[in-house]
Amino acid sequence: MPQSVTVRVPAKVNVQLAVGAARPDGFHDLANVFLAVGLYDEVTATPAGDLRITVSGADAALVPLDATNLAARAARALAARHGREPGVHLHIAKDIPVAGGMAGGSADAAAALVACDALWGTGASRAELLEICAELGSDVPFSLVGGAALGTGRGERLAELAVGGEFHWVFAAADGGLSTPAVYAEFDRLTPAAPVPEASPALLAALRTGDAAALAASVANDLQPAALSLRPSLADTLRTGEEAGALAALVSGSGPTTAFLAKDAAAATAIAATLNASGTCRTARVALSPAPGAGVVGQRGA
Ligand code: ATP
Repeated sequence: MPQSVTVRVPAKVNVQLAVGAARPDGFHDLANVFLAVGLYDEVTATPAGDLRITVSGADAALVPLDATNLAARAARALAARHGREPGVHLHIAKDIPVAGGMAGGSADAAAALVACDALWGTGASRAELLEICAELGSDVPFSLVGGAALGTGRGERLAELAVGGEFHWVFAAADGGLSTPAVYAEFDRLTPAAPVPEASPALLAALRTGDAAALAASVANDLQPAALSLRPSLADTLRTGEEAGALAALVSGSGPTTAFLAKDAAAATAIAATLNASGTCRTARVALSPAPGAGVVGQRGA
């Protein structure tokens, strides 16, 4: 048995988030184009008597350490399926903004699954890991897969997408989070007759060819009006990034993180500097996409 396993897992941006009307079960049908971006959490699993969570990083105080932590739920789900105790210490080195619309909790869940599987030698198949991911939440399977993918249903049915080049992004974190259910409730209020969500052929083609200008012309987030309604100050952040030369500016998922697509690395650095100096966000950082899904980056004592 290894003494420790460290898994790195990326954040995501939704380059298209088409949202349908609320279903009877409360979920929304989506056409959700995920792109994994190079902002990472790392989850390190070490053997322990009980399930224990610790977190480091700027947002650490915002992460629950109890059984509601998504990484803890993931470890418990894997242990239950394999008839073992979930004795593990999971340390989350958190770099993905918390409650920022970048699927940080989902990322930690996928990372915890991969880490515990390696630590415990459970030998779960990829299909089984994906099944557990889907039970844990709509965004969790994508955190395992990485790259780019189209999610349908409530977002959990995934088809991987080809990406023909690198895209340069800037992500501006905001003070405080936005609750995803609250943003969906606001969407329902603002959109009484949402059409059936469909992936944009132009957007899928832009990803395939790696064309940043074409991608910028087709990014779309149906949750953006709801996020702006709950947090009007995000409009200032979006405008600041656009004026600094972003090809596209959008709210990331349910927000309040905002995402800016740049034409190249130098443009991304300049946009981040302008945003950081503007006082319209907490902090702005560059990141490259696509990024690989959850994977082991370190193992001791195999
Ligand atoms: P999404 O983009 O999937 O809607 P998000 O990025 O907006 O998610 P998360 O960072 O996943 O939001 O956090 C949402 C809430 O989930 C947090 O406020 C926190 O209470 C809870 N949570 C549970 N586990 C974790 C975790 N490992 N990391 C961060 N938050 C977690």
